[in-house]
Amino acid sequence: MTDNTTDKEDIAELLVYLGRAARGVDAGSDLTAAQWTAMRFFARANHFSRTPSAFSSFHATTRGTASQIIKFLMLKGYLVRHGAVDDRRSVRLDLTSSGKSIMRNDPLCNLTEAIGKLEGKQRKALQQALPALAGELAKIRDTVAFGTCGNCRHFSCCGAVSYCACVGAELAPADLGCLCINFAASEGPKSGARKAAMPSPRSKETL
Ligand code: SF4
Repeated sequence: MTDNTTDKEDIAELLVYLGRAARGVDAGSDLTAAQWTAMRFFARANHFSRTPSAFSSFHATTRGTASQIIKFLMLKGYLVRHGAVDDRRSVRLDLTSSGKSIMRNDPLCNLTEAIGKLEGKQRKALQQALPALAGELAKIRDTVAFGTCGNCRHFSCCGAVSYCACVGAELAPADLGCLCINFAASEGPKSGARKAAMPSPRSKETL
């Protein structure tokens, strides 16, 4: 395949178009696109990534804007704030039962349905290409690339036991498909792999 500038621009335009089109329908909800993004993030992130600063990195916005979005969702009763078990100054956000309930109206469901109609090979190709693309964009912008355990260099598996070298702990099966702010792409030589700039999972979080 040729390295054609127009091809690259076409793909970039299509990605932006898909993002806008997928968010264009609010299914009768009063949430904005940014508020839906927050709801999805806190529904899909693992427990040490469900923080305001991780969300601001994921949403590529300022900490102040992220806090405003989170406060609104807490006022609506969709998110609840918990202190970390080992530190009351740390914050973790979870969906409430109302929050889980409105996720059934997520406008992204239409895009999910459309992806489900693709052939298996096309879906697999997208599944491989999109995380790689997100990683390249993060490198160019010198920011965090979110990902899941299966593609992470901190992850190892021995029989039924899954382990994360970043937090030094075994992982529960439910953690494996979750978004993680400590993700580091496993591609390339591990010793020379670039470590993403990211806040410590133990940094203090307040709203
Ligand atoms: S293995 Fe990687 S993605 Fe999984 S919890 Fe650890 S740092 Fe996060």
